[in-house]
Parts: sequence; C-alpha cells; structure tokens
Amino acid sequence: MQYNIAVVKGDGIGPEIVTEAMKTLEVVGQKFGHTFSFQEVLAGGCSIDANGIPLTQETIDLCKAADSVLLGAVGGPKWDDVPSERRPEKALLGLRAALGLFVNLRPAQMHKALADACPIKQEIIGDGFDILVCRELIGDVYFGTHGRRQSEGGETGYDDMNYSVAEVERIGRRAFEMAMKRRKKVCSVDKANVLETSRVWRETMHRIKAEYPEVEYSDMYVDNCAMQLVRNPGQFDVIVTGNLFGDILSDEASMITGSIGMLPSASMNESGKGMYEPIHGSAPDIAGKGIANPIATILSCAMMLRYSFSLQREADAIETAVEKVLDSGYRTADIAAKDENALSTSEMGRLIREAL
Ligand code: NAD
Repeated sequence: MQYNIAVVKGDGIGPEIVTEAMKTLEVVGQKFGHTFSFQEVLAGGCSIDANGIPLTQETIDLCKAADSVLLGAVGGPKWDDVPSERRPEKALLGLRAALGLFVNLRPAQMHKALADACPIKQEIIGDGFDILVCRELIGDVYFGTHGRRQSEGGETGYDDMNYSVAEVERIGRRAFEMAMKRRKKVCSVDKANVLETSRVWRETMHRIKAEYPEVEYSDMYVDNCAMQLVRNPGQFDVIVTGNLFGDILSDEASMITGSIGMLPSASMNESGKGMYEPIHGSAPDIAGKGIANPIATILSCAMMLRYSFSLQREADAIETAVEKVLDSGYRTADIAAKDENALSTSEMGRLIREAL
C-alpha cells in the first residue's frame, strides 16, 4: 500500500529530527511491505524567509492532498520581531484550521527506563502513569472574537469563550472511543462552577456518556486537575477538555514525564487525517549541533501509523524498538545522566532502525 505524507521539517532542530523519522518510516515500509512517499513543504520561519509569510496556500493545498502530515517544529529567535500576524507559529493555527484538526491527542507516559527523569517523588508515581490528554483544538476562546474596547477602566481586551453542543459531542465521543481502546476511564475537565461555556460542556458530556456504559466517567474542575496531575497522576487514563484548559494541562502532563524530547502528539480531523508532531518546539539553543532527541518525532510516526493508517503492528514495532533502545541504556543528551556518553541525533535514529 502507498501512503503519501506531506513533510514540514520547519525550523531549528526540525530538519534534524524529521530526517530520522522519515528514515524510520522507510524501514517500517521495507519490513511490512508499504511505500511511504514524502512531499516536503515549507511552513513557519523558513516559509517567511522564502515567501514572506509563514503559511502559503500551496502548502495548505499539498497538506490537504496528502494522506497525512508530519511536522518537526516552527519558530525561533530569528523571527521574534516579525508582526504577530506573520509569526511562524501562525502556520500551526492555519494548518489546524485548514485541515479541520479538532482533536489533539497527547500521550504522557513514563518510560520505566527513564523513571529517574520524572520530577515527581517515587512514592507518588508508584508504578508510573499512562495518560492520554484529548484536547479540543479548533474552538474555545482561541477561536472566539478577540478585540479591545473602551470602558471605565480604560482600554479593555476581550476574548469570547464559547463551545456549541455539536463541538463538545464531537470531541467527547472521540475521547470515549479512545478510552474504549485503553483502560476505559474518561475524566472530563471544565470550570462549570464559574463558566457557562463549561456548563454546556458538562451537560453534553453527561448526555453522551450514556452511549459508553463500559467507560468509568468523572468530572473534574480544571484547578483540581492541575493539582491532581502532580499529586496522583496514576489515577488518570483519558482526560478530555477544551482548547484553553487542554493547552495548559497537556504541557503539565508532559512535563511530569521529565523528558520533553520523548513526547509525540497527533491532531486529527473527522475523516481520520492527521498532523503528527513532537510536543516540543524548535529548540534553537541546540539547533544545528546534531544532538537533539529524535524520539518524540519517531513516536509521532507511530501515532500516524496507528490513527491515520490503521497500521497497528507497524506502530507497535516502532514503539517496541524505542523501548528496546532505551532499555539497553542508550540516551541522547537531554535524557542522559551527567556521566553517560550521549548519542547524537543520527546515532539514536540508527539504533532505533536497527532495533526495528
Ligand atoms: P522548546 O521546546 O523548543 O525548547 C525547550 C527546551 O527543551 C530547550 O532547552 C531545548 O533545547 C529542549 N528540547 C526541546 N526539544 C528537544 C529535543 N528534541 N531534544 C533535546 N532537547 C530538546 O521550547 P522554547 O525554547 O520555548 O521554544 C523555541 C521555539 O520553538 C520558539 O520559537 C517557540 O515559539 C517554538 N515552538 C514551536 C512549537 C511547534 O512548532 N509545535 C511548539 C513550542 C514552541
């Protein structure tokens, strides 16, 4: 089977880590009899340099035409001073909106071999944790009306927060479906004690939970969830929440794993097309040094195989290869202990391909 993948290498360490991910997919293709063809497109800072804007219609069209999108990272200090509507990060919002990517999945899992990197005390993490944050990605206050008006206190900024029943049903059902393939628990996070938007969210979630009687359902206020993630992360399976709360909680869930270079993400639309990318940024401080950890991007490819192409065995093979390499003690600098010899980006990529 042939799969066409649009590749946005992006800025900073993007090209280094995406190159290793593409090579990994090629090995998966050889091993399991698939062809992955890649079409490289520009977005972010490199697109500003080439075209004057972070996202062109040509890139959008090529991403729409592809079966899936693989993205490294965009942004960096070189473009910090460009006007806000032309910043590299605008490319991400533009692609999410153009492709209708309404759900963002971020697994936050503690790899046993990296338990020492977890910033939480051993007695709290116990046997570890395996959380899937399911964040709504194209609604909420980020996509409401923004503006400024004059009021008694002078100039006043406002951002309109809203969720429709249809939007909540769409993300809610996706969360329940994910939970059915995991440990069958959904925790819906909102601020229904204060926000009307959250009351619509909660009522809708309560209505659709009846469709999934096998799933254990709970509600949690966002402030409590922020606390529970560091107090007892093992209690969570799937967390489903809106765009704003999800932005913050998914970063918190990632950080408690202690290894930003390890964490993949998937953003998908209703037809299953997705954009797959590491959760970290373009790491300008280490760009060009060949020392970035490629694992988050390689694991993003595993998510692509599983969620967009339904290639379960192939996805498992990548994840097992990564586990094997970590269990054998190999580390890039970001996850190595001080006295360990750290591998380069390409050495880590090669070892994962050999393990495959
Ligand atoms: P960052 O994630 O790029 O870096 C934070 C720290 O983590 C740095 O010390 C970096 O060296 C390290 N790090 C990140 N990824 C790593 C990897 N794979 N291997 C080893 N170390 C790694 O966050 P930042 O410094 O806040 O942002 C840098 C730029 O990236 C900014 O321009 C920001 O806007 C952009 N950004 C882009 C995305 C994206 O493209 N999705 C996401 C976040 C930030």
